[in-house]
Amino acid sequence: MIVRFWGVRGSIPTPGPSTVRYGGNTPCIEVLPKGEGGPLFIVDCGTGLRELGLNLMGRGLPISANIFLSHTHWDHIHGFPFFIPAFIPGNKFVIHGPVNFNERLEDIVSGQMKYSYFPVKLDHMAADIKFVELKESSFEIEGVKVTTQYLNHPILVLGYRFEYDGKVMVTEYDTEPYQNMFQGAQEDDMDDLLFGGGDDKANIDQEAHDEADPIVAEMNQRVIEFARDADLAVIDAQYTAAEYPSKIGWGHGTVDDAIRVATQGNVKRMALFHHDPTRSDDALDQFEDHCAAELLRLKRPDIVMFAARERLEISF
Ligand SMILES: [Zn+2]
Ligand SMILES: [Zn+2]
Repeated sequence: MIVRFWGVRGSIPTPGPSTVRYGGNTPCIEVLPKGEGGPLFIVDCGTGLRELGLNLMGRGLPISANIFLSHTHWDHIHGFPFFIPAFIPGNKFVIHGPVNFNERLEDIVSGQMKYSYFPVKLDHMAADIKFVELKESSFEIEGVKVTTQYLNHPILVLGYRFEYDGKVMVTEYDTEPYQNMFQGAQEDDMDDLLFGGGDDKANIDQEAHDEADPIVAEMNQRVIEFARDADLAVIDAQYTAAEYPSKIGWGHGTVDDAIRVATQGNVKRMALFHHDPTRSDDALDQFEDHCAAELLRLKRPDIVMFAARERLEISF
């Protein structure tokens, strides 16, 4: 399996002197499950897709690919209108993405190509483009097993697990750990003091909290199991542990969450991904140092953890 990173940044492209080493393009990952010459998979259509498109044009026509969208937030689709191969007749693309309850996947992706936003409509792209809406499922494409799983983000997000010939690559980003939303009695004590409510309310809240706890733990365990034994897992590490408390509910995790998934899921390699727009190259170097120190402390120096950077190629 060959994996190439074309965009690793979250939220918005960040060109500039402090991001030249890791890159400023938004998410786009090329996956060749059967190696060079085999089927082409593309995960997400951030601005990294533009460069991948130019690179593909240099490899010869026709081009066909299965594209997998984690979700349709801007930073994961805004490279698509600039994907040159989609304008060329004879090329074929199947765009997979999570089902949305209000709108069709095709309408969401093409919505950014209305004349108010962009001069060319999706209909005018000359390649054969099809859309497939996914829920949690498992299926095969050209002999490659694809499994999807929902993650924890403000809209439905899918993680992908690609398996071929004993090799496994997993994506789990635009996600944060599931939280128990029911406060326990302890937190409520202050409420009771200020607003009344008494012991009954505290007991009910504590009961709800205790009931939810194992469910939350199970959902977090599912995220770990989805990455189990992966040769490469690409994981959301947008924040530091210190930054996270003011970002809870924004749908992104921390470097330490990534370390937990890597160690408990026994992955071989883990790429920290969806770098915060404010994260400089030097800060990402420090993320790698932090991971190395933590993995030593946890007696797992066998796990390779690194910050994903543009143009990095990994084969296994
Ligand atoms: Zn994102
Ligand atoms: Zn998102």
